[in-house]
Formats: sequence, structure tokens, C-alpha cells
Amino acid sequence: MIFKQLFDEKSSTYTYLIASARGREALIIDPVIENVNQYIQLLNELNLKLVKVIDTHIHADHVTGASKLKSITKCSTIMGDHTPAETVEIKVKDNEYINLDNLKIKAMYTPGHTSDSYSFLMDNYLFSGDTLLINGTGRTDFQNGNAKDAYHSIFNKLLKLPEETLLYPAHDYKGEKVSTIGKEKKQNPRLQVNSVDEYVEIMNNLNLKKPAKIDFNVSKNIVLGA
Ligand code: FE
Repeated sequence: MIFKQLFDEKSSTYTYLIASARGREALIIDPVIENVNQYIQLLNELNLKLVKVIDTHIHADHVTGASKLKSITKCSTIMGDHTPAETVEIKVKDNEYINLDNLKIKAMYTPGHTSDSYSFLMDNYLFSGDTLLINGTGRTDFQNGNAKDAYHSIFNKLLKLPEETLLYPAHDYKGEKVSTIGKEKKQNPRLQVNSVDEYVEIMNNLNLKKPAKIDFNVSKNIVLGA
């Protein structure tokens, strides 16, 4: 399998490129528009044909490269079925599988950070978007975010996966690249709560600044960055 984790310095976003082997089909998760040329170069180097691009949710901190990639490669665009982006071609449902050659990627509806947030599981690789981060969790104070939903998505879905599941989030601000479900259960400070109410209390009192350019980014992402 080919697996590349790419980093956008400006927004601290991780983008993932997956393919079964050189010369085969490829999929990209959470592309950043400014880095599309880099992705195309990498696809060419590996002789890959991009067939699918997924956004885990409507991002607030960067513009997706989905539309640009589609116009260059004719790939299909994918999001979960709660997306407000009408031009998404394939809207996957909870527990639905996306095929990529012999690879299977399971869609998991994990609302809370936003109401449209999905996570994606390929074997023991979990692409958690902003639902579960390394040593953190996605904020829940905009885009129909809901701390209670986030708690259920994290505790009743993602943390039920095997402990050795590899966690690949959509962001990291401290240079961490990968974790595991087991490690996060033990060490992630946000997860050391005893009840949903305790989690909601933490999330509702973070007092975070509104992301720069959120209105611009969301309005662009509703049309997949077109
Ligand atoms: Fe986000």
C-alpha cells in the first residue's frame, strides 16, 4: 500500500494520499487548495490516477482543493451525507464503504465538531478529521458543532475501535503525526472525563478565538473550493 501524510504549514492541516500500489488508483483525504500542484506532482511521480477525493467536513481554517483536483484529474468528490455542499458527487452514509482497487474505506458519521463531520476507517488506519485529535478534540463552537454529539462520536464510536488503531487526524499544531486509540484513551486530557456533562462543560468553556477567515473559508468550502 502507498500511504503519504502531507502537511500544510499555514493551516497545520494533514492531507492523506492513499493507493494500493504504484500505477494504481489513488484517493486523497482533506486536500488544501494551495497544495494541489504538490499533490499532482506526487501522483505523477508514483504513476497514480486520482479517482476520489474526500473532505471529512466543511473546514473553517483552509479552503479545500477538491474542486481544483476534480477539474485537473476528473476525480469524484466525496463527503458524508450530512454535508451542506450541494455539488458533492458522492454522499456516503454511516457505515458505507468506499472502494479503491482492493482497499475498502468505511465511512463513520461522527458529528460534534461540525454537524457534517465524518471519520474514515481503512483497516487499522483511522482518519478522524477534527473529531478526535492527538491530545485534543475538535472545538464544537461553530458550524452547528455540539459538544454532546462530539462526546457520543468519540466515546461511543471512535474509542470503541481496537486500541491499536492508528489515529491520523486532520490537524496537529505541535508536530505530532500519529497516535493510537489506546494512547489517546490513556493520555488525551480531554478524554479523562467521567460523564457527558463533564465533557460538555469543558467544551463550552474553551473560550477560543474565532478562526481567521472562517466566513470566507466556509463559503468557499460549501462549493468545494470552486
Ligand atoms: Fe475542522
